[in-house]
Amino acid sequence: MPWTRMLTSGKYQGLYRDANGKEQSAGTYTQEAEAKREAGAREKEQRGATPMDIEGAKIQWGAWFELWHSSRLLAYATDSLYQSIAANHVLPDWETTRLMDIKTLPLQQWVSRMRKARKSPYLIRAALMLMKTSLNAAVYHGRLTTSPAAKVPYPDLPQGSERYLTPDEVEALAFQMDGLNSTILWTAVETGMRFGEISGLHWNRVDFSRRVIRVADQYDQKACVIKAAPKDKEARTVPMTPDLAALLANLKSATSPTRRKFCGVPHEAGHCGGDLVFRGAREAPVTSKEWGRGVFAKALARAEIEGRVRPHDLRHTFASWCLQQGVHLAELAEVMGHSKIEVTMKYAHLSSQSIDTVRDALSSHRRTASRTADRGSTALHDASSSPDEQAG
Ligand SMILES: [Zn+2]
Repeated sequence: MPWTRMLTSGKYQGLYRDANGKEQSAGTYTQEAEAKREAGAREKEQRGATPMDIEGAKIQWGAWFELWHSSRLLAYATDSLYQSIAANHVLPDWETTRLMDIKTLPLQQWVSRMRKARKSPYLIRAALMLMKTSLNAAVYHGRLTTSPAAKVPYPDLPQGSERYLTPDEVEALAFQMDGLNSTILWTAVETGMRFGEISGLHWNRVDFSRRVIRVADQYDQKACVIKAAPKDKEARTVPMTPDLAALLANLKSATSPTRRKFCGVPHEAGHCGGDLVFRGAREAPVTSKEWGRGVFAKALARAEIEGRVRPHDLRHTFASWCLQQGVHLAELAEVMGHSKIEVTMKYAHLSSQSIDTVRDALSSHRRTASRTADRGSTALHDASSSPDEQAG
């Protein structure tokens, strides 16, 4: 049962016991009845009442996020990314604030604090977008009349060639594509594979039982041959999310009647292990040039996504999502197949790790790299880099 205590100020403090029996304050109020009512509401919340029980705008943002987010139909990657953005960048500030108490000025101050903490503008954008979307949903469901976040501006993104898509943007793009092309899109975003590696992907490299893809071939769209990927480096293995595995399994069964024994594209080295996973127009391998100007450009226009976005930016998007979810730069370097850590370093500003953690992770990676380097100079001190690698 909730109770109250009169303070020396003459105000009343509402009190209740939490699930562990610990005394908790529900705040101070001028009216005793109000203090008791609030304490009662908090107590009920603590005892496992579902958030739906809490009426309208009195629900706390954290509970609203749970409720609203769980009702969204999102791809696995999108869902887990939002969970992580919420946990790291939104919940620490807003978890216990009731929807009715969220105001424009504190939201603007929250954005300023993130900028002062030197969080990446991409990350701030993602956190603010999550807040805006959640409050729009609260308006839609009649919990709020207007969104206090509507007028809070997004931070400017740095000028440059790199563009990172948000999960909502990728969902919107996928929605504008057919099954084959949205599978290409998700493969790019969820594995970070280079486009040539996606074009040159053979079915025998997709391991459904271990849920991994072996990246060992790449299609060279200029020479029209399959090369060992990437160039002279070792092949790598990338994980498949359950959603991506399901998409690829669907594609595999849909294409089984026409699947060939070999891909028919000349292999520069090694031998062909089966048919290609993706084929574009006239059964030819899908190229970034053709796909980028065709299917991808059309979907971008229909989804009303602004700015110049190239297929290669899907790889950047993968990197940014991984880092926002707390993947270390050294691990990212491995999954992305970067032979030089400097290439991965350019994503460092997206990482939520402290600069010290990043430095430690990188120096341990560097030690491993120099131990395993079989050439004279270690990867780190080798200044030369191929154009493809420069592009990340
Ligand atoms: Zn082949």
